[in-house]
Amino acid sequence: MADEKKKSACPTCMGNKVIAGVCETSGEWQGKTEDGQVCTPDQKCPTCKGKGYVEG
Ligand SMILES: [Zn+2]
Repeated sequence: MADEKKKSACPTCMGNKVIAGVCETSGEWQGKTEDGQVCTPDQKCPTCKGKGYVEG
């Protein structure tokens, strides 16, 4: 129990450093995009700030 400062994989990105883009379909977007689907691009994880781990 001496190592309290272990780095652990970020729970948000699972250590991937980025959040994979996701595509969602919603009626709200019907007409705004071709098929009512909106995709977000990969983005740097805001939780670990792209490090892939969190201090804990
Ligand atoms: Zn992360």
